[in-house]
Amino acid sequence: MENLALPKLNALSPTLDSTLLKMMEEIGELSEQLELLEEGEGSISSVAEELLDLAQTVITLMFVFEKEGIRVQEWLDDHIEKLIEKKYLKPERRDEILLKSDGKYQYISLPQLNISGVTLDKTLRNINKAMGRLAQARGKFRGMNGENCMPKSSEVNKIMGLALLHVAQCCYTMMYVLKNQYGVNIKEIVERHLEKLERKGYLSSKVS
Ligand SMILES: [Mg+2]
Repeated sequence: MENLALPKLNALSPTLDSTLLKMMEEIGELSEQLELLEEGEGSISSVAEELLDLAQTVITLMFVFEKEGIRVQEWLDDHIEKLIEKKYLKPERRDEILLKSDGKYQYISLPQLNISGVTLDKTLRNINKAMGRLAQARGKFRGMNGENCMPKSSEVNKIMGLALLHVAQCCYTMMYVLKNQYGVNIKEIVERHLEKLERKGYLSSKVS
């Protein structure tokens, strides 16, 4: 089990839309690194770095939701039930799952799933699927596609919350693949990631 504690980027002011765009950007960068790796030109540490960037946008979106009074934790049970139903997770392992916020950090721990033949590429495909659902829910809610049917905001929030948890779970699945199949030291890449956030000035020491 890997526990992650990723910070709120309190020197930035992300919105729902800016974060969704940032997620798409990071998924693109992750895809690029995976392609380079396949061509024998990239490195596994660059893939790991982009994965952490994506995980950070997931955390940022959770904070954006929190600010709007939406708690992703509300749908964690639905997420877990789905995993159990698909036999990806044994019911007795539900205690391993953690998702909480103290307003400054999101503490998150998601389990390694029992999926045979899991690869980085297949997981990326799953991330893309969930990202599609997030974008669709956001677009529909704002009536961006000209459709008359405007779903209730609670329904939209649930779709987005579950899709976000799906992306978070995929990030974990990729992390386990990196660790188990490529011998990546997760602790090390998380430390490097946190150093980068500080270097780029995304974290303010002032109490926000
Ligand atoms: Mg990046």
